[in-house]
Amino acid sequence: MNKTKWIALAAGLALVLAVALLVSPRAEFVMGGAMVDVGYRLQDHLAAYDLGDADAHHHITPDAVWHEFLRQNDLAAGVRRVFPRSRYHPVVAMVACMDARIDTNELTGDTRRYYYIIRTAGSIMSEREEEMLELAVANGVELIVLTTHTDCAAERVARAPEQRSHYPHLVEGVAERERRIAEFLARPAIAERIARGELQVRRATIDTANERLVPAP
Ligand SMILES: [Zn+2]
Repeated sequence: MNKTKWIALAAGLALVLAVALLVSPRAEFVMGGAMVDVGYRLQDHLAAYDLGDADAHHHITPDAVWHEFLRQNDLAAGVRRVFPRSRYHPVVAMVACMDARIDTNELTGDTRRYYYIIRTAGSIMSEREEEMLELAVANGVELIVLTTHTDCAAERVARAPEQRSHYPHLVEGVAERERRIAEFLARPAIAERIARGELQVRRATIDTANERLVPAP
């Protein structure tokens, strides 16, 4: 994109933002989300800031990745010092797979940190994750969203006989996923809140291709 187009894009965004601010909080919210998305698009192709080569044409050492990681954090933390963010109390806790194609910020387009997120391969849970969720509920969470996603590598490992011996605990975790969810729902602190209507636990599948959340029936 040439310089003139960038200026036109910036001017257009400024105009739309000014109108949005005058129109409604809803428009302001959507505009904020749109600007975050513009930021994603601006960064997406910047090879100079890559932490690795997606096509593996050249090797980048772990040490180089670490130092680039620190450099980018320094930049981000510097911005946060200048523009501190408001604190909101999370009311949603979500369990999601660690798959990097899923960006939990993008699932709702809300950047304001209303979420506790637990990420594990295959969205598997043990007693530890169950306690994490119960702690989140004790801290005010009113909705728990338990997700899985399409094209899940952990689920593929669990289905592949030659992989099962390499990752026995992961395979076990996937196999006992439903049992763990039932176990969590039966925990007294959780069951009582659900019965009183103070807590909901919902299930959903994330379409990995477009990050659309498909609620379970
Ligand atoms: Zn996955």
